[in-house]
Amino acid sequence: MEATHEGILKKFDALKGKLIIGKAGIKGINSKKRLPADEYVPEAHIIHNLVRGFYKPADKPYILSYQATESSENYGKQIVWSDETQSEFLRIEMAPPDKENDHSKKSDIVAARYNLEKKIPLGILHKIKKGHNRILGLGIITSERDDGVFIVEPFSYKGILHPLDELKRLIKDEEINTSFVAEVVQRRGQAIFKKKLFEDSAECAICRMDEPTLLIASHIKPWKYSSNFERLDKYNGLLLCPNHDKLFDQGLITFTDDGNVVISSLLTTKTKETFGLTESLFIYLDEGHKKYLSWHRENCFKN
Ligand SMILES: [Zn+2]
Repeated sequence: MEATHEGILKKFDALKGKLIIGKAGIKGINSKKRLPADEYVPEAHIIHNLVRGFYKPADKPYILSYQATESSENYGKQIVWSDETQSEFLRIEMAPPDKENDHSKKSDIVAARYNLEKKIPLGILHKIKKGHNRILGLGIITSERDDGVFIVEPFSYKGILHPLDELKRLIKDEEINTSFVAEVVQRRGQAIFKKKLFEDSAECAICRMDEPTLLIASHIKPWKYSSNFERLDKYNGLLLCPNHDKLFDQGLITFTDDGNVVISSLLTTKTKETFGLTESLFIYLDEGHKKYLSWHRENCFKN
């Protein structure tokens, strides 16, 4: 897969969940009509042309991305959601352009079949309303129905994602050595990890902030230093708000085995006040957290 194509797919994965308002974030500003090169894509590019659902780059044989809608004006309800939060799709019914005189219809279908046959993933956008698109991550076409509709399922490198087993298999697999795939695995792992933490609590362990979209499943012993077991062990995690996650991640606070906060001497009185850090602060811990916190105190904490 060429670098630009891979980069755009990687970008879809990284931007999953992000709402893009207007065209500029999708196909660049009017005068240039391209997005500049960025950390994912090595050259100027667009992630979708916003002309119709299918985006097949002119000189390529494949569909690069697809804009799914739930509007009755377009192709009707296409997205089957995994739950009511509508953040993850279970399936998308990707309908080819339905106007008979659409001259791109045939080439779109040929291209979608190319994705299906070669197992090439595609980026998915959800058009919420005019000018509002949410990135749904990556999908892969798994079949073509008799009525011409292509079925798209969430993508993971080796087929259809199934959380824990799939992740374990992916991590073990020796073929998995590109940074792109490593990132996909980490993203999936984080999602599973967050789900596990949410089963026990749904608020910041420190300040009780409970906005689900802002809460972060923070690893006590960071992902990169953890074994596969530790990466998904709920006792290696704390659910934290962005501020407290950052303070913990940077080693500016830690906790004793009893859950009492230990505050770095690097923090000023003002910072401590801003983030509600007092010496009497404590969090509830289980036995399982202790070995990870001990690691955090020794390796992360900046005394
Ligand atoms: Zn907090």
